[in-house]
This record gives sequence, structure tokens and C-alpha cells, in this order.
Amino acid sequence: MCFSIHLARKPLVDVERWTLKQVQGDGSGSGHRQLRLNMTTFRTLDDLGDLTGKVALVRVDLNLPMQDGAVTDDTRVRASAPTILDLCAKGAKVLLLAHFGRPKGERVSTMSVSMTLDAVQAVLGREVMFVPEVAGDVVRQAVGILRPGDVAMLENTRFWKGEEKNDPELARAIAENGDIYVNDAFSAAHRAHASTEGLAHLLPAYAGRSMEAELKALEAALGNPVRPVAAVVGGAKVSSKLDVLTHLVTQVDHLIIGGGMANTFLAAKGVDVGKSLCEHDLADTARGILAAADKAGCTVHLPYDVVVAKEFAANPPSLRTCNVHEVAADEMILDVGPQAVEALADVLKTCRTLVWNGPLGAFETVPFDAATVALARSAAALTAEGALVSVAGGGDTVAALNHAGVADDFTYISTAGGAFLEWMEGKELPGVKALQAA
Ligand code: ADP
Ligand code: MG
Repeated sequence: MCFSIHLARKPLVDVERWTLKQVQGDGSGSGHRQLRLNMTTFRTLDDLGDLTGKVALVRVDLNLPMQDGAVTDDTRVRASAPTILDLCAKGAKVLLLAHFGRPKGERVSTMSVSMTLDAVQAVLGREVMFVPEVAGDVVRQAVGILRPGDVAMLENTRFWKGEEKNDPELARAIAENGDIYVNDAFSAAHRAHASTEGLAHLLPAYAGRSMEAELKALEAALGNPVRPVAAVVGGAKVSSKLDVLTHLVTQVDHLIIGGGMANTFLAAKGVDVGKSLCEHDLADTARGILAAADKAGCTVHLPYDVVVAKEFAANPPSLRTCNVHEVAADEMILDVGPQAVEALADVLKTCRTLVWNGPLGAFETVPFDAATVALARSAAALTAEGALVSVAGGGDTVAALNHAGVADDFTYISTAGGAFLEWMEGKELPGVKALQAA
């Protein structure tokens, strides 16, 4: 195992960089990137002094993608490494809490969180003790063996039925072996489970570094953003993001709709979208969203030129670019056209904040990645100039931004799929709320 390679990689969440970039602004003195954060409601690791011998129960995300028993992507571990190492440096005995898969309250050997042990040890560059329980004497004994600054990984929280039921009994049993609770798993914060919500009420609770960075970024994007604000919403279907669209029209100045869901809006406006992916039964809903946007003073941008093909394949012979009103009955819209992308880039130039979820086209297949790549690069360039705060999230969105080579250039990229979407829907996340209350 090569520790140095993993350790040399920079952590995904760079709180220092975020803070500096945001608070110092673009250096031009315009001050428009100044963050007005109301983070006082959260306790963070900065509120902790020496923890020598104290036990920190730390909720992390170890639900890592695996293939043939090996972790294929350790991004989530790297995201929480600063939190774990910070607590170690303060002298705490760190007990990691996480779920892995969906064992539904049973012990399932293939879903032991110990499957991630090698990956966690590699990222942290230190030994991690595995404890096959989350509560009780076995954990107590493990705590007795650990020295200050040591790390142990407790078993999959979802092996216990009380986890997903947020059973106070289970939470109390876990809390018995800890002195403080740190939640660093924003990606699990949309669930009110014992390890994500219940524990926060039983021990002094703190947001970890990754949670803190996520909350700051989200606050800057939609909570208290510098205006004007643009949102890009793309992806396959309107039905999967109805609540997102409904919330955003009341929050942002410009709503840019792309991807398959743009087809549904175009069809609702009477455009013939041919064989395109389109939810015709949602025409009324789409018109309702457009009306709500109008009322809220939100400008909705739909493509006026599009990239179409008769078959869905890489560089198909039938590929062409046309006006949305010229799509033939046997053609599919697979990407936003170049003229629309140029106009959208101009819209971004007038904005100070961008929140992005969903690719503009079927980006996995060339050349239907063109619009997503082009607009992502415009957003990245504006961010680099200090003109834009750009926040993006969503499984395919992160893949698309990586594909465009701009993931490092956005202000913040959230890897929390479900939690990010629920936040974009304007919902209160129980795991976050519990930290605020604590
Ligand atoms: P995320 O995971 O970021 O939330 P989604 O899952 O909603 O994003 O959407 C991503 C999917 O949408 C991609 O697989 C992409 O191929 C698909 N998609 C985007 N535009 C189109 C289109 N015009 N036609 C068909 N599929 C599309
Ligand atoms: Mg997806």
C-alpha cells in the first residue's frame, strides 16, 4: 500500500481556500464576493480546544463505490480526512460512524463497513481499528485500548434497526461511549437517522470541516447569495426535479433549463420536439412553473437552437444543429445548440452567483457534451476572474464537470447527491437542523 500517494492528494474540501477566496474577494475591491454567512448557529471544530482522551463520535460518509471487494473511489474519505485528522491532532480518540449499503437492520457480511478499512487507512495514513459494534461493552473496551489521537471504525450503523428509525434507545447507547458528536456527512443529512440526527441531541454537537464547507457553499449559493443569481437545471426528466424547479423560480433571477427537461418545457409551449425524451403528460405542470417564474420575476431560458439526431449514438450520421422549431418528427434533441450556449454564457456574465444541477445534454456521448462543456468552462472562467461564485452538485453533474475539466475551478462542488437535491428543493435537512439546534 502506498500511503504517500494518497496523502499527497489534496483534500476534496479545502476550507482554507474557500475561506480565503471568499472573504478576500477578487482583490479588485468590488467586494461582491464577500460572504455574509450566518454560521454562528453551528459549532465547528474551531470551537474545540484540547480533547486529550475525549471520545469523538464522528459521522462520516463511507458509502464508497466498490468493485470486486475494492474501493473504486475514495473521494468521500478524502473529504472527511481533514476533520478526522484535526480531531486526532487535538488528542481525541476518534470513533467513525457510517452506513454502508442497505442491510435493512440485519448483519450482512458483504455490507460490513470494514470493507472500506483499507481505503480509510490509506487516505488517513494511519492504522484504524475496526470494531464490529456501534454500542455496548465491545466499543467501551475498544475505547480503553485506543490512545489519544487514535482512530477506530465502528460497524455499519444500518445493521441496527434503530438507525433508520432514529430510535432514541440506539442513539443513547451509541452516545454512552462518546463525549462529543461531530457530523461530517452532509450527504446523509437529509435522513433523520440515529447517527445523523438523534446523536446531535445527546452530545455536544459540531459540524465537521466538510459539513462546514458544504453549508458555507450552499449558504452562499441560495441562502444569502450575491445577486443576480442564475440556476442551471438540466438532466433527463422534469418529473425527477419538479420540486427543485418550483423552489428555484422563487429564489433565482435566471433559470436556465437544459437537458431532456427542456424538451418538456418546449413541448408545453407548443414546440414539436419529435422523438425527443419528453414528458408530455407534464405539460400543465411545466406551464405552471413558467407562470410562477413570471410572477416571481425569474427569467426562464430555454434553448432556441438544439443539436438533434435520428439515432442516439456517438457522432451519428444524422447529426445536425437546428432551430427548435425545425426539429423533424423522427429526430431527437440531444443537446443545447451553440448559439443558445453563447447567449447563456452572456447571461452568466451578468450574474454573481451560479448554482448548477444537471447536464445540458446527453453528455456521456459525443458530441452531445458540447453545450455542458462550453457553459461549464464559461462559468469556470468567470469564477477564476472572481466575478462569479459557482456551486454545483448532483451525481451526473459532477461527472460532467470532471469531463469538462473544470471541477477544480468551480467555487464548490458538492458530491452529496440526494442531500444536495433536497437542499435545492428548499427543504430543511434534519441532520443540519439538529446541528443548529444543538
Ligand atoms: P444529476 O445526476 O446531476 O442530478 P440527472 O441524473 O438528472 O443529473 O441527469 C443526467 C442525465 O440526463 C444524463 O445521463 C444525461 O445523458 C441525461 N440527458 C441530458 N440531456 C438529455 C437529452 N436531451 N436527452 C436524453 N437524456 C439527456
Ligand atoms: Mg443522476
